[in-house]
Amino acid sequence: MTAVSESQNRPYLDEFVALLGDLQVLSEGRKISRYLRDFSWYSPILENALADTSVDAVVRPRNIDELTAVVALAARHRIPITMRGAGTGNYGQSLPLEQGIVVDIKGVAGILDVAEGRIAALPGTIMKSIEEAARGTGQELAVMPSTYRVATASGFISGGSGGLGAAAHGDLWSNNVLAVELITVEELPRTIRLEGADVNLILHMYGTVGVITRVEMRLVPAHTYEDVLVVFDDFEQCCRFGWELVDSDIHARLASLQQAPIPAMMTPITHEIPEGSHVALVWSDLDDAASMRALAESYGGTVKAWPEGATHITQFPYSHTILWSRKAEPESSWLQCEYASGDKDRFIEQVRAVTERYPGVFLQHIEINTSPDRTVRCMGIPPLVGLANHEEALDELISYCTGLGIYLLNPHSYVVEEGGFVGDTERMLALKQEVDPFGILNPGKLGESFFSDRTAVVVSSERDMRAPEQLSGE
Ligand SMILES: Cc1cc2nc3c(=O)[nH]c(=O)nc-3n(C[C@H](O)[C@H](O)[C@H](O)COP(=O)(O)OP(=O)(O)OC[C@H]3O[C@@H](n4cnc5c(N)ncnc54)[C@H](O)[C@@H]3O)c2cc1C
Repeated sequence: MTAVSESQNRPYLDEFVALLGDLQVLSEGRKISRYLRDFSWYSPILENALADTSVDAVVRPRNIDELTAVVALAARHRIPITMRGAGTGNYGQSLPLEQGIVVDIKGVAGILDVAEGRIAALPGTIMKSIEEAARGTGQELAVMPSTYRVATASGFISGGSGGLGAAAHGDLWSNNVLAVELITVEELPRTIRLEGADVNLILHMYGTVGVITRVEMRLVPAHTYEDVLVVFDDFEQCCRFGWELVDSDIHARLASLQQAPIPAMMTPITHEIPEGSHVALVWSDLDDAASMRALAESYGGTVKAWPEGATHITQFPYSHTILWSRKAEPESSWLQCEYASGDKDRFIEQVRAVTERYPGVFLQHIEINTSPDRTVRCMGIPPLVGLANHEEALDELISYCTGLGIYLLNPHSYVVEEGGFVGDTERMLALKQEVDPFGILNPGKLGESFFSDRTAVVVSSERDMRAPEQLSGE
C-alpha cells in the first residue's frame, strides 16, 4: 500500500533533520508505512480510495517550540502538512492526499493545568492521561472517545465527535471543549485562542483549519461506575429502556444498544448472551444500581454483570462495534445516522421500519446520547452485512432511511462536508484563510469532490484488523 518518495528528491528534508535530529524525521522504511494507515479500512470505498497515499516524511516534534519551527519551515517551503494523533480516525482524516509531511503530535504531550470544571493539555496528550489527571482531583472528562486509551486530545477534537459520557453530557459540540489554541501556518506562526462557541469552528475539521497547540476540556464530578450487559428478547424494548435510562435521573456514561446478531459477533462476551438476543451495554453509576435494574426489568431486560476477564466494556460501543462486525463478516460495511431526536415513539417507528425493510442487513447499533437541553439523541452506527453491490445498495438504503426522516452521515468519504458535521461554513472558511493562507493544511479534505482519481484496490487479506488498543505499542 505504501509508496514513499525518495528523500533525496526533497532537499528540504535535511532542514527538518537539522531542526529535530535524525531520529525525529522518518522518510523511508516500514516505520513510515504505518502513518499511511488508519481505520478508514472500515469502509470498502475509502479503503480503495486511500490505498495509494504517500508522504515525503513524518516529523515528530517533542514540544511546542519544535512544532512551531516545523510549521514555520513547512510554510516557508509551502509543503502540505497533515497532522496526526494516534491514527484511529475512521475517514482517512490523518492520511495525506497530497504528500508533504505528516506531523506526529504524540510527542507534544502533557497536562498543563487542572481546575474545577476544566483541564488543559498539550495536543498530543493521550485522552486516558487526561482522564486520570482529572480523576486525581475527583473529576472526570465530560466526554471522551471509546479509543481514549490511545487517542490524543487534538486528534479527538479534530477527528472525533463524542463517545463515553455523551449519554450524560452530550458530544463535542455540547460545550465540552472549552477552549483551544492554534498556531497559524506562516513563516512566523502566531497563536490564536478560541473560546466558547468559537471552538466549534475547528471541531471535526480534520486538522484543515489550524494546528492545535492546546486543548481545554470540560470536567464534571467523578462517578464510580459498574459495567453491565442487559439482555433483551425484543429489540424495541431494548430501545425503550435505553431511551428511558438516558432520560431519567440515573447517571449513565454509556447506553449502547446492539441488535442481534451483533452481540454474537462480540466474541469475548457472547457466552453470556443467549442466541438471538439483543443487548444494551450500560456503564452507569454504582449508586444508581438498584434503579437501573428496576428500569431494565420493567422493559423485560435481564441484567448481567460484565463477564469476568472479558475486554473492558468501552471496547465494544461506538466504532468498536464495527471492528467486531468486520471481524465476523469481513466483507461487511457500515453507516452512521441519527434517528428522530426527542421523540421516542417516532424513534421506535424508525427502528421498526428499518428492521422490517433490511432484516439481517442493516444491523442496528444505537448509542443513546443527550444534548445540553437534555433532548435524547439516538446515534446509529449500524454494521451493514451482505450488500451484494455495495455502492448501489448503499444508495438505495440511504434514500430509504432519509425517507423515514433518519439523518445520514456518510462514513465513506474523507471530505469534511460529506461527514455532515460542518456548522458555520462562512466563519470557518474565514478562520481557515487567516490561519492557513497558503492552503497547505491537510489539502484535499475541504471542499473537494467526493472521489479523487485514486483507483487502487485493496485485497481484504492485507487488512490489519487489530483494535486501536492493540496498536498502541508500535
Ligand atoms: C475502534 C474505534 C472506536 C472509536 N470510537 C470513537 C468514539 O467513541 N468517539 C469518537 O468521537 N470517535 C471514535 N473513533 C474515531 C477516532 O478514534 C477518534 O476520531 C479519535 O479520537 C481520533 O484521535 P486520534 O488521536 O487517533 O486522531 P487521528 O486519527 O490521528 O487524527 C484525527 C484528525 O485530527 C487531526 N489532528 C491531530 N492532531 C492535530 C493538531 N494538533 N492540530 C490539528 N489537527 C490535528 C488530524 O489531522 C486528523 O484529521 C473511533 C475509532 C475507532 C477505530
